[in-house]
Amino acid sequence: MSRDLTAPEQRRLMLDSVRDYLGQLAEEGLEGLPAPSAPARAPAAKAAAPAASALVPDGASSRAAAASPASQSRPAPAPIELLSRYPGLEKTASLEELSAFIGDCKRCKLAPLRTHLVFGVGNPQADLMFVGEAPGADEDARGEPFVGRAGQLLTDIIERGMGLKRADVYICNVIKCRPPDNRNPEPDEVAACEPFLMRQIDLVRPRAIVALGAFAVQALLKVKTPISRLRGNWQEVRGVKLMPTFHPAYLLRSPGEKRVVWQDIQEVMKLLGLEIPSRGGAR
Ligand code: SF4
Repeated sequence: MSRDLTAPEQRRLMLDSVRDYLGQLAEEGLEGLPAPSAPARAPAAKAAAPAASALVPDGASSRAAAASPASQSRPAPAPIELLSRYPGLEKTASLEELSAFIGDCKRCKLAPLRTHLVFGVGNPQADLMFVGEAPGADEDARGEPFVGRAGQLLTDIIERGMGLKRADVYICNVIKCRPPDNRNPEPDEVAACEPFLMRQIDLVRPRAIVALGAFAVQALLKVKTPISRLRGNWQEVRGVKLMPTFHPAYLLRSPGEKRVVWQDIQEVMKLLGLEIPSRGGAR
C-alpha cells in the first residue's frame, strides 16, 4: 500500500532529482551553471507592487485550474542548453520550422551518402513518441522512418497491440541520415544530429517516449548500460517519461522476445490510460 511521503522524504526525493539532472548535464558537457544575478534593489520611492491576483485577468486562475487533463499531464518544456550547438534551433516553434532549420543538412559526414533525410512522421501533438536508431535502406529510399519489415512490426505493435493508428503517434530516429551498410552511427554523427531530436521532443512534448533498441536508449539516456537491464524500467529524458525496449528488427531475429516487449508496451499503455486487451498484443 502506498503512503504519503513525509516532508524529509520529499526533500530527499527532490534533492535526488536535482542531483540526477545535474549529473545528466555534466555528462552532456555542461561545465557549470550561470550564477544568479543579484536582485536589483527597488527604488525607495517606488509604489508598492500590485498584489499577485491583480496581475492576471479576471477568471484566469480558475481557467488555469480547469486546464484540459492532456495539457496538465504533458511535461513542461525542457531547458534549452542541449540545443546551443546550433544557434536559433531553440527558436524553432513547430516541426515544420525545425525541418526547415535542418534543411539540406550537411552538418556531418553522412550527408553525401543519403538518398533522403528522414526527419520523422506522425501526429505533431502525439501523446506517444517512438525513437529508433537511424534510417535503414528502406527508410533512406522512402524518406520515412520505420518502413520495411521492422517498420511493419512496429505498426503492428501500435495498431494491433495498442489499438492506436500509426498516424496517432510520432515516429523518428536519433540520426536522420542512413549510415553506410547500416553500421552503428559514430559519436561525431550522434553529436551533430541529436540536437534535432531533442528539439523534436520539446516540440511534440509527448507524455511518453518508447526508445527502440540499445543504440536509441543509450544515446537518449547517455548511458552504456545494456538494453537487457534497462528495458521495462521507466527512465526520463527532457522531462518526458521514457520506456526502453527492444528494437523491432531484433524481434524479427528473436521472436521469443516479443513477450517482454509486450510487457513494456503495456506499461506505456497504463501510463497513457489506454485499455489493455485481456489477450492479444503484437504477435
Ligand atoms: S545525420 Fe543529422 S547532422 Fe548528419 S547530415 Fe543528416 S541530418 Fe545532418
